[in-house]
Amino acid sequence: STEVQLTGQTRVLTVSNQKGGVGKTTTTVNIAAALAAVGARVLVIDLDPQGNASTALGVPHTADIPSIYDVLIDEFPLADIVQTSPESPRLFCAPSTIHLAGAEIELVSQVAREHRLRTALDEYLASPEHSIDFVLIDCPPSLGLLTINAFTAAGELLIPIQCEYYALEGLSQLLNTVRMIQKHLNPRLSLSTILLTMYDGRTRLAQQVADEVRQHFPREVLDTVIPRSVRVSEAPSFGQTVIAYDGQSAGAIAYREAAVELIRRDGAPAVTHAESNIEG
Ligand code: ADP
Ligand code: MG
Repeated sequence: STEVQLTGQTRVLTVSNQKGGVGKTTTTVNIAAALAAVGARVLVIDLDPQGNASTALGVPHTADIPSIYDVLIDEFPLADIVQTSPESPRLFCAPSTIHLAGAEIELVSQVAREHRLRTALDEYLASPEHSIDFVLIDCPPSLGLLTINAFTAAGELLIPIQCEYYALEGLSQLLNTVRMIQKHLNPRLSLSTILLTMYDGRTRLAQQVADEVRQHFPREVLDTVIPRSVRVSEAPSFGQTVIAYDGQSAGAIAYREAAVELIRRDGAPAVTHAESNIEG
C-alpha cells in the first residue's frame, strides 16, 4: 500500500557541503528514513569513506563487504552491493567501506572518471525491480572526484547549513563548483533545497544566521528547521536513524516535516494522511 502520492519519477538528490560536521550524513539518513516511513522507496548511496550513513542505517560495511568502491572502481553493478536497511523494507543502502578512502586517487586515472556513479545508477534504475522514488547521496567533506561523481549523477543538490557564525563561508566555492558541473558535466543539476540544521533557537546568532541564509536563498530554504537535539546525535550509535530510535523526539518530528516538504516541493500531490501512517 502506498501512503504517499509519488510522481513515479526518481528524484536523485546529492547532499553536499564541503564543510565537515554540518549535518550532511544526519540529514541524508533521517530524511531517507522519513521518506520511507511515508511510503517512498529510498536508496541511500554512501559516498563518504567514513561510512557513517551505512552505520546509521544499520547496514554492515566492514572491509570484506562489497561496496560502492567496487561499483566506482571495478564496475560492479550497483544491484550487487545494495543492502536493505533493517529499519524498513523500502529503505536501501549502497554502503561505503574503508576502501573508498583510496578511490579519490584511483579514480584520477580511470576512463569517464566523473561519470562512474551516474552510469551505475542509470543501469540500476532502468530495472523495473528497482522502482525507487528517491536516491540520496551522502558526500564526503570535500569537492573531489567522489563529490563530482555525485553532482554528475544527481538532478538536485540539497545543502545542509549549520546555523553558526561561518555558515555562509565556503558556500561560494560550492556554488562555483556547481556552475562548473552544470556547464561541463550535468546541465540538469539544480540547487533545489537548503536545510538549516542544528538550530539552537535560544541564541540570537542562530536566528540571525537563519535570516541571512533565507535572504540569500528565499526559494531554496525549507520552512522546516532541524533543532539541535541529543536524540539525533545518539541514534547512530544504536545503528539507527532518529526516526526509528525516538520517533517522537523533536529531531524526528522535524526531519519528518522536512521530508514532507521535500515531496510537496516537487509539485507532487500532497502527502495524504502522513501523520497517521508514520511507522516505528
Ligand atoms: P557531516 O556529515 O556534515 O560531517 P554529521 O551529520 O556527521 O555531519 O553531523 C556532525 C555531528 O553533529 C555528528 O556528531 C552528529 O551526530 C551531530 N548532529 C548532526 N545533527 C544534529 C542535530 N540536529 N542535533 C544534535 N547533533 C547533531
Ligand atoms: Mg558525513
